Amino acid sequence: MSPAIFDSHAHFDDSQWPPATLVADLGRIQGLAGAVSAGFGPERFAASRAVCRAVRKVRRAVGLHPWWLAAHDQTQREAGWQAVVAELDGADSDTIVAIGELGVDKNRKHLMDADQQMRWMTLALHQAKRRNLPIVLHIVGWHGHALDALRAVSPRWRGVVHRFSGSPELIPRYTDLGLHVALALEPRLDVSKRQVVARAVPADRLLLETDWPFLDLDYPQAVQELRLMAAQIADARGEDLSSLIATNNANCRQVYGLGLVNE
Ligand SMILES: [Zn+2]
Repeated sequence: MSPAIFDSHAHFDDSQWPPATLVADLGRIQGLAGAVSAGFGPERFAASRAVCRAVRKVRRAVGLHPWWLAAHDQTQREAGWQAVVAELDGADSDTIVAIGELGVDKNRKHLMDADQQMRWMTLALHQAKRRNLPIVLHIVGWHGHALDALRAVSPRWRGVVHRFSGSPELIPRYTDLGLHVALALEPRLDVSKRQVVARAVPADRLLLETDWPFLDLDYPQAVQELRLMAAQIADARGEDLSSLIATNNANCRQVYGLGLVNE
């Protein structure tokens, strides 16, 4: 059996999967080294916080996801941001390891233009720098805008471009800033395209993620799928599965600043 795998990005705050169910599911998974639950919006912080409190190998990020921002008005966005800051200053802040998701999404441009999206992204970037926390980036299309926003704040970042969906040529533009690149379980993604991207990411910058939930998979099943995806990627890179998983786990710990616990 290959070593336990770290899931760099999931959402343990979806209303469909209450914390008690998830904690039970996490308890019965074999072969999960740890996971980070990414932030979406303030009404979901409590669920993620509860899972982190119950399962020590799960940590979380807090932020306003570009989809959440696009779905709310300006007053709600400002209140949402206050809730992010309150969470970062709150009693359970020791479970927070990153700021995010944050970023830009071209598919939401009918709801929020690029300037507005970049303004919220920049606010979150400054917060991450101020607190010395890594960032969890959600970038769909608009890579030029995202890179401009990153560079305008700092030439150097710790964090991950989650669920990377760009072309392989974009990878060095992110890794040059210090960022990692994560490949996600994507049922609709063309596997051959993912293999090309998987070969283009340097070993010290590669992360794997479920980006769970899915409608038809519970979390233990998603972790099984993640292991299968890891095997495909190891194949594409000409590595063995155990060493790819070890690389992923070490990279996850480095990005999120985690110690060696619970393996
Ligand atoms: Zn996500």
